[in-house]
Amino acid sequence: MKRRQFIRHLGIGSLAAGATIAAPAVAAKAEFKWKMVTAWPKNFPGLGTGANRLAQLITEMSGGRIKVKVYGAKELVPAFEVFDAVSRGTAELGHAGAYYWKGKGEVFQFFSAVPFGLTAQEVNAWLYHGGGMELWRELYDRFGLVPTAAGNTGVQMAGWFNREIKSVDDLKGLKMRIPGLGGEVLKRAGGTPVNIPGGDLFTALQSGTIDATEWVGPYNDLAFGLYKAAKYYYYPGWHEPGSVIECFINKKAFNALPKDLQHIVLTASKAANLDMLSELTARNQQALDTLINQHQVKVAALPDDVIQKLKAISQEVVAEIAAKDPLAKKVYDSLINFRSQVSKWSAVSEQAFMRARSL
Ligand code: CA
Repeated sequence: MKRRQFIRHLGIGSLAAGATIAAPAVAAKAEFKWKMVTAWPKNFPGLGTGANRLAQLITEMSGGRIKVKVYGAKELVPAFEVFDAVSRGTAELGHAGAYYWKGKGEVFQFFSAVPFGLTAQEVNAWLYHGGGMELWRELYDRFGLVPTAAGNTGVQMAGWFNREIKSVDDLKGLKMRIPGLGGEVLKRAGGTPVNIPGGDLFTALQSGTIDATEWVGPYNDLAFGLYKAAKYYYYPGWHEPGSVIECFINKKAFNALPKDLQHIVLTASKAANLDMLSELTARNQQALDTLINQHQVKVAALPDDVIQKLKAISQEVVAEIAAKDPLAKKVYDSLINFRSQVSKWSAVSEQAFMRARSL
């Protein structure tokens, strides 16, 4: 007793014997067992493995204080029910792409992919240093969620087609799996967009339910075997120049975490964001070589007049969203102003250097 009073008097209570440390130590090791539901098939290269890696990062960085178990699409909930599941607390984390939720509001699409919008590098700049993340939080807060960017695909491919695309007329009547704003653009160009979860694409394309599909890029597309169902593989992915893969967190679960764990979850997402883009950038050309050399895929650029037409329609479609509600207007203004200033910088940096390197 005397000793303890002496220590307290000196203000060095923390030096008291092991027994007195036990209480706070136990509190710090409290375990949070979290579920992560995803819109991807379990372990799917790039996207599913990106979700796995994020879960692993959170678990390891927290020293096991948060343990995350990953569920592939349909294991706990179907791909397109991930958002609602996390919103109502069935799972604490969701891993998907924001354009899947456009039924809840067109504005969602601004946080995944905007046709002729921002590249991966530019969209990260908008989110982390250009006001984009604040707007994303404002939107997801309405659903009891905290959003994070947890991956990026980089520039995607335009997709797989069972016929050649030589002019704008070839888009007429084309039934294509293409989600989000790109789908709306295709519709106005005369096509019929449909949305199908990734896991069902191959069957839909092979059975002729659809004439074309976009997915991601060579690395992901090779894994789905899409080359067996269509031979024409077009670029560039005008509709998805740098798609953000999101991780959203149930807000109540997030707020229940001590501050250090909150930082760990957010920082792990940032690390996963960088890691996915790095992995896809490293693997895409190898996969493209395999598609061309082993599977005789015909790779071609979409004709310029097709691109110009799609670009003109894209501007209309994107601008219309701004009129949907005040938040959509705010996000639109932020994104379009950012694109306008960053594209001037990109012209004299990335674009000029790419040109210089290819001379
Ligand atoms: Ca895509």
